[in-house]
Amino acid sequence: ISLANQIAAGEVIERPASVVKELIENSLDAGADSLVIDIEKGGRRRIRIRDNGAGIVKDELPLALARHATSKISSLADLEAIQSLGFRGEALASISSVARLSLTSKPASQSQAWRAWVEGRDMTAELAPASHPDGTTVDVEDLFFNTPARRKFLRTDKTEFGHIDDLLKRIALSRYDVRLVLNHNQKTVRNYPAVTKQNALERIAKVVGTGFTDCARFIDAEHLGVRLWGWVAPPEGCRHQADAQFFYVNGRMMRDRMLNHAIRQAYDDGLTDERSATYVLYLELAPQDVDVNVHPAKHEVRFHQAREIHDFVLQSIRQVLHQNAA
Ligand code: ADP
Ligand code: MG
Repeated sequence: ISLANQIAAGEVIERPASVVKELIENSLDAGADSLVIDIEKGGRRRIRIRDNGAGIVKDELPLALARHATSKISSLADLEAIQSLGFRGEALASISSVARLSLTSKPASQSQAWRAWVEGRDMTAELAPASHPDGTTVDVEDLFFNTPARRKFLRTDKTEFGHIDDLLKRIALSRYDVRLVLNHNQKTVRNYPAVTKQNALERIAKVVGTGFTDCARFIDAEHLGVRLWGWVAPPEGCRHQADAQFFYVNGRMMRDRMLNHAIRQAYDDGLTDERSATYVLYLELAPQDVDVNVHPAKHEVRFHQAREIHDFVLQSIRQVLHQNAA
């Protein structure tokens, strides 16, 4: 079972950034609007996230660390079946099978905080009183300490931290309302205060740079109930660094081939500059008109009206790019 769990962990937990992603999603699920993320040595030494969310009551702390589906695995066929489902409800259990994980939490309804961690080969959960404000801290130390083969695949601290930083930027541009602080080796690297949607540009300036926000053009277009809004940088006359490409579909970051094609075509059209497109764009449409769960780990999306969406995105961006600068 422990082996199955580790194999399972290998699927979701590829590198420190995968851990950070799961932990941030949990914090956001818990309604947190302030996250402080401490990373040490690119995440291989420590990944710690403190949030101000709903917390976990004492009795549920051990359950949060318990295996659900994976503990029932009896054959490789079962394992494969679970893998294709993407291991929902397994993140904390998977992480604690390949790292030293502790969970400290205090729901507002509880006067005392408690800490839980798993110990030993049988992975039983221990529980002890702790000191913690309302919310939860997940502390992950020594990632892959017991899986040397996987540890060998880790790149330099700088590269691994770069993946975490990229992830944080993607989240920062989808949740303006959440304060995000990222520290690496005790030093604050990113500090994104919460802003209202009206002040989105303040956050975008921090994430993508003022070179982008100073020259980006605003889009807000609608077609048959589909809305596209956000900012695109014209290919010329900007002093921003190219290559910041953020496209969200109903709040989720996507790298979709069809959408990329539409954007690329809008840029290439009649423009000679070879610089890559830079944009922060949000597509919003009725949930029933799109499938985003093609694969939870891949950022693919399937539109029911793919051709329509493609042309709408292409036309909207093309129009804004071809406007003369004010
Ligand atoms: P899932 O998120 O798919 O339910 P996880 O293993 O990621 O599975 O988390 C297990 C459970 O632990 C969650 O369902 C949630 O109840 C609880 N939990 C995890 N992290 C937090 C958090 N930061 N705040 C509150 N509850 C949490
Ligand atoms: Mg989760």
